[in-house]
Amino acid sequence: MLQPNFEKGNGLLPAIIQDFHSQKVLMLGYMNEESLEKTRNEGKVTFYSRSKQRLWTKGETSGNFLMVKHIELDCDKDTLLIHVAPVGPACHTGTDTCFGDKQNKSTDLGFLERTIQERKANPKPGSYTNDLLNKGINKVAQKVGEEAVELVIEAKDDNEELFLNEASDLMYHYLVLLAAKGYELNDVIDVLKERHK
Ligand code: AMP
Ligand code: ZN
Ligand code: ZN
Ligand code: ZN
Repeated sequence: MLQPNFEKGNGLLPAIIQDFHSQKVLMLGYMNEESLEKTRNEGKVTFYSRSKQRLWTKGETSGNFLMVKHIELDCDKDTLLIHVAPVGPACHTGTDTCFGDKQNKSTDLGFLERTIQERKANPKPGSYTNDLLNKGINKVAQKVGEEAVELVIEAKDDNEELFLNEASDLMYHYLVLLAAKGYELNDVIDVLKERHK
């Protein structure tokens, strides 16, 4: 049971809002008991706005609601951590997060991996990913080899655009190969972490 200690914050506790897919910290707001209850009842994050001095459902005017996935408390029950699926950008400036774009960027390939898995499960007409998957594992693996060679060739030059494009092609085809074989990037990460010990 969730029993935050509202007294500790004189009725107002900080709520860290984290994207449940990307794990990015999106924003921070404050909650009183009433806003937490509304958040839990409606499944959308509602803060107590210190500037507006009223309950504030994030997205109430923009439509960019934060849909609640999971709520937890810190060790001494005076801070909330809320995992959400954001409907749109969490920041009113139009960016995903209020905290800049450095968080998790290098490890966040989930957006692409999820799309590939989704195509595999529900083929979409005209999808390049599905065309590729339909050709079978050997063909996908061959494409990975081709893209790797193209990357090797571009590495010899110093055309930044071509190099980054081939690096992207390789990464995409590599993810398709993992998916075709029934693996995901996490399986590779597990192996790398094990080696790193
Ligand atoms: P919204 O709740 O998204 O409909 O936005 C309503 C208003 O709340 C905006 O015009 C901003 O003033 C403010 N606001 C929205 N999102 C944020 C945020 N992430 N951080 C600070 N203020 C925000
Ligand atoms: Zn605490
Ligand atoms: Zn912001
Ligand atoms: Zn290429």
